[in-house]
Amino acid sequence: METDKTILIVDDSPAFAAAVVGMLDGTLQAYVAHSALEAIQLAEKNRPRVVFLDIVLPDGEGYDVCSSLKKTFLHQPIQIILMSATYDAQRVEKILQAGADDFIKKPFERLEFQLRLKAAFIRLRSQMKLMEEREFYRQAVRQEENLTIKLLDRQLGLKETLADLESTKVGLERENTSLAAAARFDVLTGLLNRHSLNARLELEMRRAEEEGLQLCGLMIDIDKFKSVNDSFGHLVGDDVLRAVGDALRACLRKQDFAGRFGGEEFFVILPGSGVDSAIAIAERIKITIAGADVDVAGAKVSVTASVGVAPFVHGDTLTDWVGRADKAMYRAKQLGRNRVEL
Ligand code: GH3
Ligand code: MG
Ligand code: MG
Repeated sequence: METDKTILIVDDSPAFAAAVVGMLDGTLQAYVAHSALEAIQLAEKNRPRVVFLDIVLPDGEGYDVCSSLKKTFLHQPIQIILMSATYDAQRVEKILQAGADDFIKKPFERLEFQLRLKAAFIRLRSQMKLMEEREFYRQAVRQEENLTIKLLDRQLGLKETLADLESTKVGLERENTSLAAAARFDVLTGLLNRHSLNARLELEMRRAEEEGLQLCGLMIDIDKFKSVNDSFGHLVGDDVLRAVGDALRACLRKQDFAGRFGGEEFFVILPGSGVDSAIAIAERIKITIAGADVDVAGAKVSVTASVGVAPFVHGDTLTDWVGRADKAMYRAKQLGRNRVEL
């Protein structure tokens, strides 16, 4: 991000605006607007970094122009300094509400103006630095997600060639040396293991808090799973858990995460989802799990699941949030299993 030196002066008096332009040194590219509408059009076209904005304009108020520009340039650094000949307590309140970065009383002298301008550029630089750091963090998360997807693909590939690998156990060991993957994924289902599920939960909670995004979680517990083990043996039980893992993966969108929470309990993280879409995904998961089956000597074994849906609420700890999903899941059990509860 470059500190390009474009500045916009907005004042209904052409003489005053020209006088302000006269106070600038030659390194700045200055644009002048005389109305609210012109100010917004010029700003959108030329993307100024610093705006000196008169409060009283012929077609509106500087406060509204200020809020509108702050919205338009939400993810780009911009400094807005409101100008007015008079100010009182009510104006000061409105200046703050409009999100202005500074205020200067008209008329002003060259030196005072240049001081405000310098201060604006100093703030602009720290604003840019913050945004760059934020972008860096975003990219790091994206890279980590890409890596997760790659590792998952690899895990699936390994599964397909399991028959070959069985006879060449030595080869399997060599292929399986990705320690990072082992530390990250549950060996049985290929979903996130408990440890990395927790890390992901913390990360998504932080992200939801910081960015004010919606976030929901699903606690999923297989119904009467003990009876699968008792009737068909532990190995068939494991196959069923693998099939549940595949069913979960099939229902997730790119931004979602699923992990194995415990023995036959799973947790799904739905970043950006509100309650309604979380319930819809939960219903789809419930149906997909019930539709998945495992072959046992010609017969099909299938299971159902109870799902608890819980939105992440501002201020929640991890225990609060997961605990609510767990409670909802238990209610689903009590109300007859194979169902979704909020
Ligand atoms: P409910 O509907 O109330 O959830 O009944 P349930 O039988 O599923 O509940 P319970 O918690 O009593 O039983 C869970 C069983 O899951 C007990 C345990 O042996 C089995 N289990 C846990 N982890 C694994 C695993 O990795 N593989 C297999 N095969 N079974 C497992
Ligand atoms: Mg359980
Ligand atoms: Mg269970």
